[in-house]
Amino acid sequence: MFPSHLLPGRALWLALLLAGPVMAAAPAALQPDAQVDGLLAEAAVALRHDANQTRRLAEQALARLATTPDVDQEFRARLLLCEYHAERDLAALDQQVRVMQTLQSRVQRQGLRAGLLTCRGEGSEMRGENAEALALYDQAVSTATSTQDDEMLAGALFARGFIHSLQGSYAQALADLRQAQGLYEKIGFSLHALNALNGIATTYNRMGDNTQAYEIYSRALEKQRAADLQRDSAVTEHNMGRVSERMGNWRDAEQSFESSYRTSRQIDYLRGQAYALRGLAAVALARGDAHAALDQLRRASALRQEAIDHRLGALMSLTEAMAQRVLGNLTLARQLLSSSLDIFRNSGARLEMVAAYEQLALVDSELGDWRRAFQWQDAAKQTSEQLLRNQIDQHFAALKVEFDTATREKEYGALLRESLANQQLLQQTRRAHNLQYIVSGLIVLLALLLATLALHHNRNSRRLRRLALTDELTGVPNRRSVLSMLPVALQARDQAVGVALLDIDHFKRINDGFGHAAGDRVLKLVAERLTSMLQPPEFLGRIGGEEFLVVIPSTDLRLAAARAETLRAHIGATDIAAILPELGSVTVSIGVAISRPGDSVSSILQRADSALYRAKASGRNRVFAEQPPHPRLQEVF
Ligand code: GH3
Ligand code: MG
Ligand code: MG
Repeated sequence: MFPSHLLPGRALWLALLLAGPVMAAAPAALQPDAQVDGLLAEAAVALRHDANQTRRLAEQALARLATTPDVDQEFRARLLLCEYHAERDLAALDQQVRVMQTLQSRVQRQGLRAGLLTCRGEGSEMRGENAEALALYDQAVSTATSTQDDEMLAGALFARGFIHSLQGSYAQALADLRQAQGLYEKIGFSLHALNALNGIATTYNRMGDNTQAYEIYSRALEKQRAADLQRDSAVTEHNMGRVSERMGNWRDAEQSFESSYRTSRQIDYLRGQAYALRGLAAVALARGDAHAALDQLRRASALRQEAIDHRLGALMSLTEAMAQRVLGNLTLARQLLSSSLDIFRNSGARLEMVAAYEQLALVDSELGDWRRAFQWQDAAKQTSEQLLRNQIDQHFAALKVEFDTATREKEYGALLRESLANQQLLQQTRRAHNLQYIVSGLIVLLALLLATLALHHNRNSRRLRRLALTDELTGVPNRRSVLSMLPVALQARDQAVGVALLDIDHFKRINDGFGHAAGDRVLKLVAERLTSMLQPPEFLGRIGGEEFLVVIPSTDLRLAAARAETLRAHIGATDIAAILPELGSVTVSIGVAISRPGDSVSSILQRADSALYRAKASGRNRVFAEQPPHPRLQEVF
C-alpha cells in the first residue's frame, strides 16, 4: 500500500528540462532567448523546493515569450506548468495540454511531443484512469525512442515504470525504472537516476522485499538531504515510514512519518503533510488510539483540499474505516471501505485492494452478515494468491530481466570488443595498405631514378665517348679517332686508300702575331672548311697542333692528290678577314700517300709526312705526293 505519487521525482522528469535539451534540438530560425532558458531552468529546480515558484517562473517565461516567441521554450514552460497542475488542478492541466496540442506541430525538438504524452498520462493517472495513462506513457516511450530524446525517454519510462509497479507488473516496472535510471546516469543527471532508484526500491517493497527497499531509501535520503532536496527527502522519509508500517516497526514508522511531516511543512508541501499525517494515523491506530488516528486523518483531510489525489483519498478512507470499525461505527466504516475499494480497483492497486477486502470482511462479520464477510474473505484470499502468484512470476521475470540485461551487457561488451578489434585490424590493414602504397611509390620512384641514372649514364658514356674521340677545339674527330678508323679502311683490299696530311703554313707566326686565341679561331675555320668539303666515304681528323689528316678511300694516288689540291685551293681561297682582317689568308701544305699492300698506319703516314716535308721545303702552300711511283705527280702545282 504505497502511494506511488509520493515517490520522489514523480514530478522530476520534467526537471530535466532545466539543463535544456540533451539531444540537440534542430536549429531554430531565431536564437532562443537565453533569459527564458534561465527562467525555465530555475523553474524546474524550484519544482522540488517551491512549486509555486515554479509556476511563477514558468508564467514569467511565457510572458517574455509573448515578445520573443520560441515554440520549444513555450512548450517547455507549459510542460512545467502541467507538472505543477498535475498535483493540484486537473482543469488547469487540461488547459496546458490543449495549448501544447496546438503548438506541437511547430516544435523543433520532436522529443518534446513525448513530454506532452507523459503530461497527458499524468492527468489520466491523477484521475485514476491508469489504463489510459499507461497507453499514453507507451506512446511517449515510443515517441521519445524514435526521436532519440534520451531525456524525454527517461521521463516517460520513469512514469510508465511507476504504473507498472503500482499494478503489480514488477518485472516491467523494474525494466522501465532501470532503463530510466541508466539513461539519467548516461546524460549526467545523478539525482534523477537516484529517483529512478527510489522507484526500484518501491517496486522491491511491493514485491515484499522490505529490507532491500528500506536500505535503498536510506541511501537515497542521505543524498537528497546532502543536495538539500527537501521535497524529495520528505517523500523518501514517508516511503521509509510505509516500509516500517508494513513490517510493523511502529516506532521507526512514527519517526519517519514525523520527519516527513516536518520537512513537508518547512517547504509548505501540503500533499506531503497529508501523506505523513495519514501515516501517523496508522501508527496511532496500531497503538489502539482510534481517536488520535481520526484526529490525524481530519488534519490530513483539511490539507488535502488543495492536493487532489484519488489514491491518497482512498488510503485515508481505508485508515479511517479501520479507526471507525475500532470505534464501532461499522456502517460508516463500510461506506468508507467500499468507496476506497472502487478507487483501488480502478487504479489496479492490488495490495490496497486486499487490505480493503480484509477490512470489509471484518466489518460485515461484525455486522452479522456472515455470507458477505465470507465473500470478502474469499476475494481477499484470491487477490492475495493472485498477487503472490504474480509476485512469484514477476520475481522470476525480474530475475530474467536482470539476467537478460546482464547477458545483453555481456553481449554488448563482446560486440564492442569485437568491433574494437575489427577497427584495429582495419586500421592495421589500412596502415599496411598505406605502407604498400608508399613502398610501391618508392619502387616506382626508384625505377624512375634508375632509369634516369641509366639514361644519364648512357648520355654520359656517349658524351665521354664523343669527348674521347672528338677534338675539343675544332669539334672534328681527334687523332685517336681518325687513326683508329684508318686501319679499317686500309684493310679494304679492293681499292687503295689515299691519305692527305695537311699542315697550316707558318702557323706559329699567326700565334705570335695575333695571339693564341686568334690561332685557335684559324684552326676552327680550317676544320670547318675541311669538314664542309668532305665527300663520303672520306673522313678526317685533327692529328696534331695545326695538322689534319684527310682519308680518301677507294682512290689512287693521282685522284687523291687531286682531292688534296682541291682542299688546299679552297682553304687558300677562304676569306678570313672576318676573324683576322690583318692576316688576309691562310694556306696549307699537303703531303699525299696511297696505300700499298702490307701498309700499316705508321708506314703510310711516314710517306705522307715525307711528302709534306718536301712540300714545306719547296715553299709551302702546295701539294706533294709520295714518290715516285708517278714522277709527274710529285709536284702537282
Ligand atoms: P711551318 O709552316 O713550317 O709549319 O711553320 P709553323 O710555324 O706552322 O710550324 P711550327 O711547327 O714551328 O709551329 C707550329 C705551332 O703551332 C707551334 C705551336 O705553338 C702552335 N700550336 C700547336 N697547337 C696549337 C693550338 O692548338 N692552338 C694554337 N693557337 N697554336 C698551336
Ligand atoms: Mg706543323
Ligand atoms: Mg705548320
